[in-house]
Amino acid sequence: MVKLPIYMDYHSTTPVDPRVLEAMLPTFKDRFGNAASRNHPFGWEAEKLVEKARAQVAHIIHADPKEIVFTSGATESNNTALKGIAEMYHEKGNHIITQTTEHKSILDTAKYLEKKGIRVTYLSVAPYGLIDPEKVREAITDETILISIMAANNEIGTVQPIEEIGKIAKEKGVLFHVDAAQAMGRIPVDVEKMKIDLLSFSAHKMYGPKGIGVLYIRRQNPRVRLAAMFHGGGHEKGMRSGTLNVPGIVGLGKACEVAEEELPRESERILRLRERLYQNISKELQDIHLNGHPKNRLPGNLNLSFAYVEGESLLMGISEEVAVSSGSACSSARVEPSYVLKALDTGEKFAHTSVRFGLGRFNTEEEVDYVAKQVIEIVDRLREISPLYEATKHGK
Ligand SMILES: *Cc1c(COP(=O)(O)O)cnc(C)c1O
Repeated sequence: MVKLPIYMDYHSTTPVDPRVLEAMLPTFKDRFGNAASRNHPFGWEAEKLVEKARAQVAHIIHADPKEIVFTSGATESNNTALKGIAEMYHEKGNHIITQTTEHKSILDTAKYLEKKGIRVTYLSVAPYGLIDPEKVREAITDETILISIMAANNEIGTVQPIEEIGKIAKEKGVLFHVDAAQAMGRIPVDVEKMKIDLLSFSAHKMYGPKGIGVLYIRRQNPRVRLAAMFHGGGHEKGMRSGTLNVPGIVGLGKACEVAEEELPRESERILRLRERLYQNISKELQDIHLNGHPKNRLPGNLNLSFAYVEGESLLMGISEEVAVSSGSACSSARVEPSYVLKALDTGEKFAHTSVRFGLGRFNTEEEVDYVAKQVIEIVDRLREISPLYEATKHGK
C-alpha cells in the first residue's frame, strides 16, 4: 500500500534529506556561534562550518569557494545579479537580454529595471520553451551588459542550451547570468564549461532547507563586479551584509555534496519513473499534450494538458491524495493559464488544462502507478460531464 498523500511537486520545494538534517542539527545546539565572532571558539567553529559548506557548494558547480556568496534563496540571488549588474555597469550600457518564460524573480526584476531606464529584450521560446542561441546572438548590441537565461524551467522542465549561449556571451564580451534553481542536483551545472559569470540557486529545491541560496560571482576572466543590495557588517566580502545563516549554509553544503554523489544514478531512476507515469497515462487517455520539450527536459518533470478538462478541476479531484501543481506554484492563487504555457502557444484547447507532475528523490514506482490510476479516473469522469467533450465526440 502506498502512503497518502503522495508528494509529486518537487519543483515547488523538496523535503530536507535526512543526511542534510543530520549535518544541520549540531548548529542548533552546541555549535550555535556567529561566524563573524572572531575572538572565541564558538565563532571559529561556526566559521569553519561555513567554509566547509562553501567548498562543498563551489565543488558541485566547479567554482572557487571565493566566488560563492550566500543569500536567502534564488529570488534574492536573481535580484542581486540583475540589479547589481545594471547599477555597476550602467556606464558601459543599459541593455539586458532575457526570455519570456523566466521565473517571476527575473521577470519582475527586469520590469523594475525597465522603470529605471534599462532596456530589456524578452526573447520568445515557442513551441517547446526552448531558446535559440542564435536569437540571443542577434539580440546583442553594443549596449548589452547582461544575458540572463534560466538553466531549466520550473513549470515545463525545458532545459536550455546554456553552454552554447555561454559561448556566444563570451565571444561578444557580455556577462552571462543563469538561474539554476531547478537545474541544481537534477542535471550537471558547470560554470567553467558553460562559461557562466553569475549563477543563482536555492537549497530547498535540492533537498536542503528553505531560506538559503547562492549567488556565484566569477572572479577571473572576467572579474565580475556587482553593486551590493544589503549594506551593514560587510559580510560575504561586502556583497551581502547580515549575520550568516549557519544552519542553512551547513544544510546547503551537505545538500550539494549529496546531490553531486547521487546525480548520475538518481537522474536515471527519476527519468524511468517519469516515463512510466507518462506511459501509464497516455495508454489510457486520448487528447493529451506534453508541454515543454520532449527530450531537453528535467528528468522529473512531466507537464501534461488534458483537453476538455480544467487543470484546476483535475487538481481538486486529486488534491487530498496527490500533491501536484497546475501552472506555476508562485501564481497558483490565480486561476488563469500560466504565462509560461501562454508563451508556448499551445492553443486554447490545452492552455487551461495543464498539470505539472514533479518527481523526485523519494518517489517510488508504486506511487507513480497510483497517481496514474487516479488521474485517469478523474479525467474520464470530468470528460463525461464536459459539454465540450460530448459535442466533440458527436461531431466526429
Ligand atoms: C524556486 C525558484 C526560484 C526562487 O527560489 P526561492 O528559493 O523561492 O527564492 C527562482 N527561480 C526558479 C527557476 C525557481 O524554480
